[in-house]
Amino acid sequence: RFITFEGIDGSGKSTQARRLAAALPGALLTREPGGSPGAEDIRHLVLTGDPGRWSAETEILLFTAARRDHLEKTIEPALSAGRTVVCDRFADSTRVYQGATRGDLRTMVDGLHELMIGREPDLTFVIDMDPEMALARVAAQGGAERRFEEFGLPLQQKVRAGFLALVRQFPARCILIDGDRDEDAVAADIAARLDLVPAP
Ligand code: C5P
Repeated sequence: RFITFEGIDGSGKSTQARRLAAALPGALLTREPGGSPGAEDIRHLVLTGDPGRWSAETEILLFTAARRDHLEKTIEPALSAGRTVVCDRFADSTRVYQGATRGDLRTMVDGLHELMIGREPDLTFVIDMDPEMALARVAAQGGAERRFEEFGLPLQQKVRAGFLALVRQFPARCILIDGDRDEDAVAADIAARLDLVPAP
């Protein structure tokens, strides 16, 4: 089973992905951008240096290249071996960040996805929360990178709306989780949705 976590920066998705992977015997925890040696190199290329270094189109190619390597080297082998894979961000992040934060490039994102990736998760937890509170968490952790023309609250609001739209677009696999709660409550909710614990 292939499970992904999505959400705005500071939503707690990385923490929840880690907790879920720890609760599932034999599960592999991985992340994007990154998750394989080559994809981690691409992560470094994309997330460091001058934010204007890559055009929006080149950035889509780099994220897709990273995902392709991650899929080939890490995700597919683990799934083939019968393991559950828990991934912190996947193609939905590219649909939202690269597809909508630097102009409307969703058609290009979707075209490349079909051509080069062609795989969707079985289940996606979208952790939703108030963008201002999420930003406060990010600030407490040391701040986010300024990779976009827009940043701070306007970016967070746009990305949140993008993820909510994705939940409507892919209702069969997306589960919306209220992230405005303490870590244990969110983890218990996610476990209940997976039937790991009896629902309250
Ligand atoms: O989730 P993580 O904190 O590792 O993401 C690193 C940064 O890359 C975040 O600021 C996120 O907004 C950005 N990102 C992006 N496009 C993606 C995935 C992440 O711009 N497809």
